[in-house]
Parts: sequence; C-alpha cells; structure tokens
Amino acid sequence: MKVPFVDFNAWGEEYSKRLQDTVSQVISEGAFIGGPHIGAFEKEFARYCGVDYCIGTGNGTDAIFIALRAFGIGPGDEVITAANSFIASAEAITMTGAKVVFADCSPDTGTINVSDLEKRLTPRTKAIIPVHLYGLPADMTPIVELAHSKGIRVIEDAAQAHGATYQGRTVGSLADIACFSFYPAKNLGAFGDGGCIVTNDSTLAAWMRMFANHGRTLKYDHEFEGTNSRLDTIQAAVLNEKLQYLDEWNESRRQAAKLYRHALTETNLPLFTEPEDRQSVYHLFVTRVPDRERVRAALSEAGIDTGIHYPVALPDLTAYKYLETSPDDFRVARSYAREVLSLPIYPGISSDQIEYVVYQLSTIVRGLRQPRTEFTVQWIEP
Ligand SMILES: *Cc1c(COP(=O)(O)O)cnc(C)c1O
Repeated sequence: MKVPFVDFNAWGEEYSKRLQDTVSQVISEGAFIGGPHIGAFEKEFARYCGVDYCIGTGNGTDAIFIALRAFGIGPGDEVITAANSFIASAEAITMTGAKVVFADCSPDTGTINVSDLEKRLTPRTKAIIPVHLYGLPADMTPIVELAHSKGIRVIEDAAQAHGATYQGRTVGSLADIACFSFYPAKNLGAFGDGGCIVTNDSTLAAWMRMFANHGRTLKYDHEFEGTNSRLDTIQAAVLNEKLQYLDEWNESRRQAAKLYRHALTETNLPLFTEPEDRQSVYHLFVTRVPDRERVRAALSEAGIDTGIHYPVALPDLTAYKYLETSPDDFRVARSYAREVLSLPIYPGISSDQIEYVVYQLSTIVRGLRQPRTEFTVQWIEP
C-alpha cells in the first residue's frame, strides 16, 4: 500500500472541477490584483476567526513582519518566539531589525513553555509570538496575561492552525494580532503563496493594509514607505471557495488523529497531548521515535512517506549561530528535534491507510527494541 505524506486530490473530482472553474472565472474577469474577490475573502475569513478585520498578504512570513512593524518594533527591541518552529516565526523578527529571543517548548504539548518564556523577558522585550504548532493552540491565556501586564504585545503565529480553538475561541481572536499562511500544504492552502493578518484593532488594521500596499492612500499617493505584500486575486478566489470546506477538512484530520492515537497506544510511542480546553486541527500528526533515520527508511520501503518538523531546533540553525545560545539551553526543543517524526495526515486519508502506517511503524519499532537478537549470547547453566 502507498501512503503519501499529503494528497491534495484525496477530496475528489467534483471539488477539483469547482476550483478550476473559480480560477477560469478570475482569468476571464481580467483583474489580478485587488478587486471584489479580495474583499469577499477577507470578510469571510475575519468572520471565520471571529474578528473584525482581515488583511491579505503575499505570504505568512510577511504577515508576521508587517504585524511587528505595526507595533513599531525595530532595532533595539527584542521579540520572543518558540525554539521549535519553522524559521519564518523568527525570520520575520530579524526582518524588522529587532533581536530574536527563543523560548523552550513544553514537554507535553510541544507549544511554547510559559515559565521558560517568562525567564526570557527583559526591559527590551516588545512582543511575544507564540506558535500554534502542528495545529495545537499555544497556552494563550497565561501568555496574554503575562505580556499585557508588562505592556508587551502578543502576535499569534497561526500559520498551522486555521480553525483550531482554545477555551472555545477560534485562533486568530486570542491576542492583539494573528498571522496566517496559505502556503499550499497548510490546512487552508492556496495554489501558491499567500497569507493574512487578522485583528480587532481598526487603527492597526488600516496601517497594516497601507503598509502592505506601498504605504499608499491613492493610486500614486504614498503616505509612507511600505512594502509590496498583497494576496493575489486568484488566490483569494480559490481560498474563498476552499474556506467553505475548512471545517469538514479539519474534522477529517481530527478523526484521523483519533484513529492514530487509538491504534498507536500499544506501541507506547510518545505523542503530544491535546489538553481538554484546546482543539487541535492536526496540521501535522507527530510522534517521537528512537533511531529516526532507520525508522523513516523502513517506512519508506513499505510505501509510507513521512516528514520531520523540524530536524534542527531554531537556535541550532546556522542562521542563528550568531546568537551563541548555551548548549545546555532549550533542552526539550533540542531533544525533540532529534526524535520527532510526522506521519501522513490530510483530509480524506483512509482508516485502512492509517492502520497500515501504524502496523508498519509498530513492527519496525519492535524490531529496534530487540536489535541483533541473533547475536545475543545466552548463558546456559552447564
Ligand atoms: C508556514 C509557516 C509560516 C510562514 O508562512 P509562509 O506563507 O510560508 O511565509 C510561519 N510560521 C509557521 C509556524 C509556519 O508553519
């Protein structure tokens, strides 16, 4: 049996046809930047997140950069984010000229560890960017309380968590600003790059919209210098169509995760927990294994594709060597980087596929636990 890591076509012919029609429609309308598709999607997505404003951007990295700039963050400031994430969470901080400060993750959920985060605060800390990693919301209430008590801003990195909930509220509405990515493989993905920023603050929203569009007020009147980071019209039209399926897709991912959890029980492989007050949308389904490269190779031989998110903790990337973090720091994130293994998950994955993955994985891991049994010397009493 073949189990791909993701399968964009698992959702059927009819749906593909609808998306092709949507793209054709935009082409025949002949407007590719701005226009009613953008406004329609922004309005729908803001409503989906339970906030007032949504601003489309060119990608998720820019969304975080623009949010930080909206708070006036730049050189001399510090911004804290998770040591275990995709580089974009940290890169956007450096793009403003501010300093990246990493915090370790919690051993149980894998999201940013609030007490470790607290230790990293300095008078220069201007913002915190918790990451809703793998689709699970970070522990937002204590983070927002801590930050706001010190006048620090909180920006959700919700790139992996469209539709996830925390204490009954949808991500995007849990802090000052939230940023999403519509990279194709995300839970809500475009046919290329895309992203957005959501907020309830009308002043910030107006500034961010202008900044993302060259600081422009009228076509050739610019109040300040911004950047060019807009959501394309074709992508907005596609996303608006896909948004109607998002809850169904997330539910399909949650069902798959439930099956995995149940089937994996006997293997005793560690899994990240999903606390009672949070609903993950399982952008990824991640376990941890010993001897990862051997496990991956054996799974691949059995037709199963896997991923690693992420093989190197951010402080250990060559790009962040200059921070000279202590080798004793970020113990959890660093050990997870060596062990994490992402199993196939996507809307429409079948229960047969999941059972096959678990069957193969448990056989492989059992083999690892009794390595080289053929060489074990048994002492036999004479
Ligand atoms: C994908 C992702 C981003 C960045 O999104 P792009 O659209 O690829 O720029 C940011 N943070 C996290 C955690 C991501 O997974």
